[in-house]
Amino acid sequence: MIRINQLTLPVDHGEEAIKKKAAKLLKVDESAIGEIRIVHRSIDARKKPQLLFSYIVDVMLANSKREGTVIKKAANQNIRAEGFRPYAYPEHGTAEMKKRPVIIGAGPAGIFTALEMVKKGSKQKIIMVEKGQAVENRHCPKDKTKKCVNCKPDCHITTGFSGAGAFSDGKLSLSYEVGGDLPSLIGEEFAQELIDYTDKIYLEFGADPHVEGIYTGEDIKEIRKNAIHAGLKLVDCPIRHLGTEKAQQLYLAIQNYLADNGVEMLFSTECENIILEDEECKGVLLRQGNGEPRAVYGDTVVIGTGRRGADWLEKICAEHHIAHKPGTVDIGVRVECRNEVMEKVNKVLYESKLIGYPKPWKNKVRTFCQNPGGFVAQENYDNDLAVVNGHSFKEKKSENTNLAILVSHNFTEPFNQPIAYAQKVGELTNMLGAGHIMVQRYGDILDGKRTWAKELAQSNVKPTLKDAVAGDITAAMPYRAMTNIIEFIKMLDMVVPGFAANETLLYSPELKFYSNKVKMDANLDTNIKGLHCLGDSSGWTRGLMMASVMGVLMGRKLAEKEGC
Ligand SMILES: Cc1cc2nc3c(=O)[nH]c(=O)nc-3n(C[C@H](O)[C@H](O)[C@H](O)COP(=O)(O)OP(=O)(O)OC[C@H]3O[C@@H](n4cnc5c(N)ncnc54)[C@H](O)[C@@H]3O)c2cc1C
Repeated sequence: MIRINQLTLPVDHGEEAIKKKAAKLLKVDESAIGEIRIVHRSIDARKKPQLLFSYIVDVMLANSKREGTVIKKAANQNIRAEGFRPYAYPEHGTAEMKKRPVIIGAGPAGIFTALEMVKKGSKQKIIMVEKGQAVENRHCPKDKTKKCVNCKPDCHITTGFSGAGAFSDGKLSLSYEVGGDLPSLIGEEFAQELIDYTDKIYLEFGADPHVEGIYTGEDIKEIRKNAIHAGLKLVDCPIRHLGTEKAQQLYLAIQNYLADNGVEMLFSTECENIILEDEECKGVLLRQGNGEPRAVYGDTVVIGTGRRGADWLEKICAEHHIAHKPGTVDIGVRVECRNEVMEKVNKVLYESKLIGYPKPWKNKVRTFCQNPGGFVAQENYDNDLAVVNGHSFKEKKSENTNLAILVSHNFTEPFNQPIAYAQKVGELTNMLGAGHIMVQRYGDILDGKRTWAKELAQSNVKPTLKDAVAGDITAAMPYRAMTNIIEFIKMLDMVVPGFAANETLLYSPELKFYSNKVKMDANLDTNIKGLHCLGDSSGWTRGLMMASVMGVLMGRKLAEKEGC
């Protein structure tokens, strides 16, 4: 089958026009086309006053053996081979349905659900479904290739056992004030209690006992005084730093523990849908690594698909009327400067969590994920969206510190698709960077000019993301977000002198998809019986510790239900 993207026609086109246009694009005679199936149609209003339909169509040739030759000859990036995978709904079994929880996604939320159930003595046969690989099989080829090769079917950085946590910096935020809105659902005191409990589990599995960011002394007073002067709030948050390489060992130990305790882990298996009967969740429909469909039944389905699965969960919510509301998306940049500039805050705070509301809009702008001696990283979401992130190793250090500056965006009416909005910003930035992360010097932004590669080489700060492309991030960043970022950097310069230097690097796009907050109560029950949504994809968390905590709470509830 051949897929054609962006087949455009005037909106008043006749019946045969699609076939004619498809034949033209494929450079074949109309008679060579057997069947055409419309996959998607949207209106393209960019060439006003002319309105066009833009189609995605699948074309079956009369002689299917010619597909390869035709695609090659067409030499068009919108034309490619498409596999045909009809979904065969599996037959319902006749045996009595087992009482078991099915966990979708082996990120911290899913893992800690299973872990807590095991710890509480659950006898249930827990099944965990993960579209990525086991932790020991996760290898980012970039280590060898030095540039992102866009792994298919999934990015090793964000998928696989331990989710986005395995390759993450592994900074566990030990305060309820950081990591998401879960405390507003379950209470701040209880959230802190669960954080302390979960932290002990991390220690059990080998986390470094040292805690950063316990603030005392004169230096912190000075930093706070400057923050107050700049109009910024300094949030206190102790941090346990696992480090990227140590985090992988720790999660491997957890994976082994779960396997030893009978948790069945299905890797390379993607959940495509949930099974609902009479408004009750009865199981899930899976697509296994070999392409075969499989239905798994259980009395409880726990979805923890992370940021990568937020889009998918949004569709599932819409399809099955799972109560949810649009949440927030964060759009921002990853900032990188020399360690010397950040020396004081790095030493005293390790991670400075500063929040401001710059003029004129007074939107919430904050620092996030600070990596002293760290590295800027690229991660790829579905649809090849390249976004920037940052991490740091426990041993290997760079000469730079990176951190994110994020601007929160909320929508009301008539638009309520925050994920789609942020995606468009990301796509536009990727387009201008020819599929790469873009980087620009702060001074060039103020001067209204793009940054050239040779100019990067003239600075003290050398980009740690080597395949980032020098360019103009302002050409894609919405005006409001860009102004917020510039004003916030000016405020930060009062706390960290030199932060607003001309050579400071801004990488784009840094996007955080926390959207689509699934409505639930303190028992983590949704409006669909038997269905629970956890972690970053649920919209209630945005970090390793809080996602793990939500898992612990879920595991406890399920164990209690079982009578443990
Ligand atoms: C580079 C990087 C650095 C980070 N650094 C930090 C940090 O230092 N500190 C911090 O607190 N947070 C950090 N984070 C964020 C943190 O990793 C996440 O907040 C956390 O992992 C969320 O946990 P989760 O279980 O909700 O989702 P995830 O960890 O994203 O796990 C979800 C899992 O579900 C799987 N999945 C998705 N869809 C499906 C499907 N349909 N079927 C089957 N499986 C599916 C995915 O493959 C994934 O493994 C970082 C993230 C990244 C990417």
